[in-house]
Amino acid sequence: MSDVSGAELRALMARVPSVEKIMASAEFAALLGEYGRTQVLGAVRRALDNWRISAQSGEASVSALDTTPLRATVEAALRRRNESRLRSVFNLTGTVLHTNLGRALLPDEAVHAVVKALTQPVNLEFDLGTGKRGDRDDLIDELICELTGAEAATVVNNNAAAVLLTLSALASRKEVIVSRGELVEIGGAFRIPDIMSRAGAKLREVGTTNRTHLKDYAEAIGPNTALLMKVHASNYAINGFTKEVGLDELAPLGRARGVAVAVDLGSGTLVDLSQWGLPREPTVRETIEAGADLVTFSGDKLLGGPQAGLIVGRRDLVAKIKKHPLKRALRVGKLTLAALEPVLQLYRAPEKLTERLTTLRLLTRPADDIRVVAERVLPALQRAVGERYTVVAEPMFSQIGSGALPVDVLPSHGLVIRTADGKRGGRHLLALEKLLREMPRPVIGRIADDALRLDLRCLEAADEAQLIAQLQGNP
Ligand SMILES: *Cc1c(COP(=O)(O)O)cnc(C)c1O
Repeated sequence: MSDVSGAELRALMARVPSVEKIMASAEFAALLGEYGRTQVLGAVRRALDNWRISAQSGEASVSALDTTPLRATVEAALRRRNESRLRSVFNLTGTVLHTNLGRALLPDEAVHAVVKALTQPVNLEFDLGTGKRGDRDDLIDELICELTGAEAATVVNNNAAAVLLTLSALASRKEVIVSRGELVEIGGAFRIPDIMSRAGAKLREVGTTNRTHLKDYAEAIGPNTALLMKVHASNYAINGFTKEVGLDELAPLGRARGVAVAVDLGSGTLVDLSQWGLPREPTVRETIEAGADLVTFSGDKLLGGPQAGLIVGRRDLVAKIKKHPLKRALRVGKLTLAALEPVLQLYRAPEKLTERLTTLRLLTRPADDIRVVAERVLPALQRAVGERYTVVAEPMFSQIGSGALPVDVLPSHGLVIRTADGKRGGRHLLALEKLLREMPRPVIGRIADDALRLDLRCLEAADEAQLIAQLQGNP
């Protein structure tokens, strides 16, 4: 670590080859071919600068300046720089629709459609019947209406956008009546009162946090009321002495008083999930049939598609929404439409859905199947984490995620890692959690009850093989 003398340093610096010479060497030709001159030049300069800095503290070896090691240094730096920041991970958190990990995984049909739309021109806004300009919603609105029973539909960037657009188009400078029990924050700064003011609508709160009655809505309706709105509580539940007004009561009130009823369903499933033992969520069709004039819901939650917000309902209201200038700002791109259509088409064969729709397949995966996976992965994981930790396969509970009921509901199985000495291992578990997170394909679990827990519900066959290989040191 000793500093070098001035004379020694000058002698060392004289050994640094010229950038031109390095760039012209045969060994750099392949790098130039792959990364282009600009990048390689920058990387060579940075490598030489780094060498000079270490030379000053006596830490540089002259042999590192030889063409072969220098090329290896430059190549490694270029590779790191050009790695995608968006990485594939293993979602072993037990939350199937994990917002921070990208929510729904899409089936192959959607992947192929996206590739096609990316690489070939498509009739995104081109009417092939007339040869004139078309409307991108035309590609998909009939299918959405078929599946939901709605008269009309439009698609925007996400459900937050769907709510913002609906309120902007229908309730700007007017009042929207919402129960105090439904003034929710969904997370990521989506709060109903904030969206309301952004849309220029005036929020008229009625009822109380735990109880709202039909007469609360009825008494609040005035000449300036634009909408009665219901919001799915999504990520929380009020228990005990509660009363909420269902659509069966609210819709007739809206109709009698000439005020539209809008429902933000959040997850918005298209099929009754209780047929597979999952929690019952109102479907979009049921909500329309119960008299909602408009329903908004996400494309990438229970629906299992790409990020999108769907607005369905009365033809006149949807037409008004589509004419609003914000619709242009919030519209979806061709990739979203390309992915959404095949996902929606899967719903035409509901009996095949648990096999074909990735989200539903994961949500309905039997705990016994997951246990078998856990037993297969266990030896590789035990060997990878070493003797300081013990790994056992244990039952656990997965969550649906994304604001579908926030409680543990899905019996699952996974691997539980504890410190081998049985002591509370907070620090060691955090270190292990970090180690797994830093693997070539990061492994994301969760720490709870003095253990690192890897829920294997979302580990399907190809990923299982890849995880085992990675744990064995060959990613
Ligand atoms: C998730 C959710 C939203 C936001 O939907 P995004 O698609 O994430 O924008 C809005 N409202 C409710 C009730 C939700 O559950």
